[in-house]
Amino acid sequence: MAHLSAIPSILLSEPPALDLVNTRFHVPAGWVDLLEHSEQRTEWLTAEAGRLGISATKAGARSDAVAAAIKAVREHVAAALEPARHGKRPPTRALSGLNEALRAAPAVPQACWDGSAVVATTDRAGSLATRLAAGFAEAAVELFADPAIRNVRRCAAPDCVIAFLPRNANRRWCAPNICGNRERVARYYLRHKPAHQDAPYGTRSGAPGADGREGSGRH
Ligand SMILES: [Zn+2]
Repeated sequence: MAHLSAIPSILLSEPPALDLVNTRFHVPAGWVDLLEHSEQRTEWLTAEAGRLGISATKAGARSDAVAAAIKAVREHVAAALEPARHGKRPPTRALSGLNEALRAAPAVPQACWDGSAVVATTDRAGSLATRLAAGFAEAAVELFADPAIRNVRRCAAPDCVIAFLPRNANRRWCAPNICGNRERVARYYLRHKPAHQDAPYGTRSGAPGADGREGSGRH
């Protein structure tokens, strides 16, 4: 299992339900699971929890109960993601698992004074583990119920499984500077293979990216 020295921003910038699924991904050195490694999980989770409106201390995020709870939600989100993004019915077990997580820590509307006005907020009762599980489950339900779920893609690099919701319809890679570059290098190699080898691409000239069009021949 490979480890990261820092959490790449790509793992903290998609809708929280996709970020959760993306905590398990593949790099040339092997599979990475941020949730398996205490330090990486803590770093990722304290950043991601803020997006869910849940304050998670590092000590709290480090607990085994938190790890188990969010891993369980991740399994349900991962099982539902592929069918949902293709307009198919997700497994009943995945949806009921998300609903159970939601019921365990319901969001309760609260009236608060912010110093100048009464503002509406929501609060969840329960342990940090159940609140985080419910927060991710709610984010997943929002994503799956949004018509934009049909736009969710996996990175076009063959060995990359990162899922993302593209703001730009032409986006093909999780990160152009990672998978985009790898693919350009691979295409360059294929174009410049020695003549005695089969060349699946018609041209043997040009530099990486010389066609100037990301996405040519794909999608
Ligand atoms: Zn990728």
